[in-house]
Amino acid sequence: MDCIEIKNLEIFANHGVFEEENRLGQKFVVCCDLFVDTRPAGLSDDLEQSVHYGDVCKFINEFMSNKTYYLIEAVAEDMAKCILLKYKKVKSVKLKIKKPWAPIGLHLEEVSVTIERGWHDAFISVGSNMGNKKDNIETAIKRLNADEDIEVVRVSDLIMTEPYGFKDQDDFLNGAIRIKTLYTPYELLKCLNEVETLGGRERTVKWGPRTIDLDILMYDDLIIDTEDLTIPHADMENREFVLKPLNEIAPNLRHPVLNKTVGRMLADLIPSS
Ligand code: ADP
Ligand code: MG
Repeated sequence: MDCIEIKNLEIFANHGVFEEENRLGQKFVVCCDLFVDTRPAGLSDDLEQSVHYGDVCKFINEFMSNKTYYLIEAVAEDMAKCILLKYKKVKSVKLKIKKPWAPIGLHLEEVSVTIERGWHDAFISVGSNMGNKKDNIETAIKRLNADEDIEVVRVSDLIMTEPYGFKDQDDFLNGAIRIKTLYTPYELLKCLNEVETLGGRERTVKWGPRTIDLDILMYDDLIIDTEDLTIPHADMENREFVLKPLNEIAPNLRHPVLNKTVGRMLADLIPSS
């Protein structure tokens, strides 16, 4: 990906764990790589199509001098998020925050923290089979979109399906959504669980009735298999109620383990589709 690099921006600020650092302040030096598609600006010679690095420098200066943190880790984390939220053309950002005068009583050239943060693509399945199902799903999607770390990009049509697993329960309304998120997969899972709880979800019977179920289907092309989290979602290739809505919004999305597109998985599951 193309990159706009800001190198060694000097800022005087008051971050540090020692009281003297907060009171007297010291020099910080920031390197900031903005990963942006520069081609539209390259072809048009129009600043509006790019990210104004002078503006970003001023933003970094204000951000770092207006607030006091103990740790440069925290400065980097918060500032990366603010840059990603403020400059929508930035897909990811690499920040290096150097502290050349770190007061450790020894000579060192500098100490620094480097992080890279960015937007991730994820697909979530949504389902409900209790109460006002459509309302439950729409409320959950609104709650997700209200979270600044999440942007809902697309929502599929909702389809009515028969229950899977535990059959003696009401039909489900199911859909799929595409989001952009700054959350890690585990943070996203936690957020989905919170939205489920707000939606009145109570976990009693496995595969039993629920006001709202939110599952992570895919997260970039990541593969995770731990006790709490499996991505891509386990068994999604065998679930019509997952594949049908997903196929509507992302037919060419590829399952990184099975190496099959969503369209292919659906056609293999239901040959007539
Ligand atoms: P289900 O969705 O299978 O009907 P639950 O919603 O009760 O069941 O989820 C049970 C557990 O599944 C969650 O607590 C979570 O830790 C785990 N889990 C594993 N992988 C995923 C995933 N990709 N998305 C959501 N939950 C997951
Ligand atoms: Mg679930």
